[in-house]
Amino acid sequence: LNRRLAEFGTTIFAEMSALAVATGSINLGQGFPDTDGPEEVREAAVRALRDGRGNQYPPGPGIPELRSAIAAHQLRRYGLAYDPDTEVLVTAGATEAIAAALLALLEPGDEVVALEPYYDSYAASIAMAGGTRVPVTLRPHDGAFRLDLDELRAAVTGRTRLLLINTPHNPTGTVLTREELTAIAELAVERDLLVVTDEVYEHLVFDDAGHLPLATFPGMRERTVSIGSAGKTFSFTGWKVGWVTAAPELVTAVRSAKQFLTYVSSGPFQYAVAEALTLPDSYFEDFRRSMRERRDILAEGLTAAGFEVFRPAGTYFVTTDIRPLGEKDGFAFCRALPERAGVVAIPNAVFYDDREAGAPFVRFAFCKREEVLREAARRLRAM
Ligand code: PMP
Ligand code: GLN
Repeated sequence: LNRRLAEFGTTIFAEMSALAVATGSINLGQGFPDTDGPEEVREAAVRALRDGRGNQYPPGPGIPELRSAIAAHQLRRYGLAYDPDTEVLVTAGATEAIAAALLALLEPGDEVVALEPYYDSYAASIAMAGGTRVPVTLRPHDGAFRLDLDELRAAVTGRTRLLLINTPHNPTGTVLTREELTAIAELAVERDLLVVTDEVYEHLVFDDAGHLPLATFPGMRERTVSIGSAGKTFSFTGWKVGWVTAAPELVTAVRSAKQFLTYVSSGPFQYAVAEALTLPDSYFEDFRRSMRERRDILAEGLTAAGFEVFRPAGTYFVTTDIRPLGEKDGFAFCRALPERAGVVAIPNAVFYDDREAGAPFVRFAFCKREEVLREAARRLRAM
């Protein structure tokens, strides 16, 4: 393994899911739903397979039906108009979109400012692209992890090429506010930076939080690469259908990298996701409501078990602080948890460069059936 990748080892998700299987534990680690997405969308995939649509290489940018559906979704939900032919690209999940965007847009040595803790593929993708990551750490404040705008400004140097933003934010559940996004947008315009924004949890925002795409802010549409994923929105994480929307030059750049990573992917599933994106608003509302209910079950269970809980405004993850339990090392805690309680969780430290800063935090996923969450809560309380 070369020096660029040596520091990354095996992803924590593979390690912890294997531990869950080996110990028969409830897996609240890796973020995947234990209930598949809508029946009619699965039927659409079966129809595509049977009718011979997508069984051979689909077009490089994605099938026209899906690109149109993505553009229609951005317009209907956010008022963002993208040309399906030149401004939309289908990718092998958001993971490939992130990798291809960074490979396409970074020169070796360019700095990428990213919100820490960050989703684990960010650091690896920045490294593969020869870039340097510059973390800006979200810190607990009044029950949520918040961005310090002065720290963000201070992180930008003459070598900064782009800001890598994630809202709703994995693993903290933070949803950036209008004020925060305005400040990010002003900074990007002032310093002439590109922005790659990972919005895969766009439909998972709760209570009075609302998802605001960065591309809607002044001066941002032309400098922003927005990333979405059917895995999260429709509960088909195995299908690996993601997408990019951006100005034509940016989409062309990302596509240049993408064509040599996977070329294309997910043929029949692209047809099914095109149909999923036209589901009525009630689908998205029901999905959000059911995840909010599960959030509340898990958050209450974790509180009763003695954790300090950061109730998330978005995503399907709850971050906790384990210090009230007399613990301080999330890694050790998560490695012991299957034996102690029959539950698997993720140590947030893996999402930090500054492992010390992340040490006391542990993430639990709540995209699981209610009875599973209740049982996990019961086990944690009894621990
Ligand atoms: N970004 C974030 C913040 C995520 O949590 C995930 C998924 N777990 C991804 C990207 C990757 O999405 P996909 O499965 O579509 O590759
Ligand atoms: N995004 C999911 C999570 O954060 C897992 C994705 C993966 O396994 N790479 O848990």
